[in-house]
Amino acid sequence: MAVDFRLDGQVAVITGSTSGIGQGMAQALVGQGVSVVLNGFGDAAKIEADRAAMQAAAPTGVRVLYHAADMTKPGQIADLIGFAHRELGRLDILVNNAGIQHVAAVDEFPDEKWDQIIAINLSSAFHATKHALPIMKAQGRGRIVNIASAHGLVASPFKSAYVAAKHGVVGFTKSTALEVARAGITVNAICPGYVKTPLVEMQIGDQARTRGISPERVVEEVILAAQPNKAFVEYDQLAGLLLYLVSDVGASTTGAALTIDGGWTAA
Ligand code: NAD
Repeated sequence: MAVDFRLDGQVAVITGSTSGIGQGMAQALVGQGVSVVLNGFGDAAKIEADRAAMQAAAPTGVRVLYHAADMTKPGQIADLIGFAHRELGRLDILVNNAGIQHVAAVDEFPDEKWDQIIAINLSSAFHATKHALPIMKAQGRGRIVNIASAHGLVASPFKSAYVAAKHGVVGFTKSTALEVARAGITVNAICPGYVKTPLVEMQIGDQARTRGISPERVVEEVILAAQPNKAFVEYDQLAGLLLYLVSDVGASTTGAALTIDGGWTAA
């Protein structure tokens, strides 16, 4: 028996891949021979420099493109999926990863932040999936991976919009997986604990202000307090789980919310 993780010649769209987890996942897929469309915000020159560096390191024949779709805009999300299909000829893998956070008590939570978090962290996965599925159905194969969170399974205070959106992502994952189970398409959610990305760096500051304690105490007593192994999740660990899910050996795993959280949600 030979276990086959090869992905050569495949095409992926990864939302929110100009930074953090999405960027790490893009690098991992490119390394396995997958052409990718990057997406996300940031400084235009830095985005282009990062894209060019990823392209330069890519195996022969692999292309690395960028599309600036705003994940709060359904029309732009449709354009992103259409762009990938038009430019790269197929679409095998969709990683719905874009996400933001805002930390505040419910009774002080700004209305516009609630709407923005639901749009980016939850609704964008629906819009991208809606446009990706007809392409994947026609191909007879597809892989959709939604980056949820441990907060898709359990809650923390002061993160109501994020927790609501991520629980929604887990439900959306299950429902979509059931619909396409006979079409060669799997749909799964990855539920990471804390990964030290720019989003988490920002939360350390926000939590310190909200709770009135030092950033060092936030890391020790608030953030890693939730993770029994007391270690941030690493990018290569996330990439390993992603590669399992999108390769042929992941074919029987669908509708799952897979934790990678140092034991957080076991408690
Ligand atoms: P990050 O801030 O480093 O990256 C977020 C990405 O989303 C960036 O590329 C950003 O430009 C993009 N983005 C934000 N708003 C956008 C919009 N309107 N349109 C398009 N792109 C947009 O954050 P990260 O920590 O890498 O988070 C990535 C995902 O992982 C998020 O869904 C987050 O909720 C989830 N997650 C993160 C952690 C963690 O500890 N970092 C843990 C669990 C889940």
